[in-house]
Amino acid sequence: MQDVIHNLPKLAKDKHKENKTFFTKLKKKPPKQLDYIMEELHEEEFKQTDCLKCANCCKTTGPLFTDKDVDRIAKHFRLKPSQFIEQYLRVDEDNDYVLQSVPCTFLGEDNYCSIYDVRPKACREFPHTDRKKFQQISYLTLKNVAICPAAFNIVEEMKRRIKL
Ligand code: SF4
Ligand code: SF4
Repeated sequence: MQDVIHNLPKLAKDKHKENKTFFTKLKKKPPKQLDYIMEELHEEEFKQTDCLKCANCCKTTGPLFTDKDVDRIAKHFRLKPSQFIEQYLRVDEDNDYVLQSVPCTFLGEDNYCSIYDVRPKACREFPHTDRKKFQQISYLTLKNVAICPAAFNIVEEMKRRIKL
């Protein structure tokens, strides 16, 4: 897995133009079955990808924290939301709460998330490849294929299966 992760930025860069063209076409004319296709591709990929052997998303990017995330996680630590924010978060250039640093503070040596049950919504949904109306998040996916080997494989499979 470490080799795959190491090579991913270069592989993603090589595919960037092709992916961008594909996503532009997808957005203009998404197939009727797209939600169903994405659900199937996502399930197939995650049957063979073990996130515990990877954790590259937690190590390199980290999520956005919504107000609901902040409230839930602060409660978990018995902190006030403001205390949790001060201790762990910062505001980024888009005015969103993000981690003060990566790898994520809540990631263990064994790649387990220490706040798994209350983790941010963005962590639960990453890499968003089973999202409804997937064509609307193609910009995000263009970036995620350089971080997430599963997202990379899903996009490659999309291009094989969906003829636009
Ligand atoms: S979601 Fe992607 S980047 Fe994150 S641990 Fe799983 S395979 Fe790795
Ligand atoms: S909160 Fe958990 S799942 Fe989210 S980035 Fe941190 S370690 Fe990963």
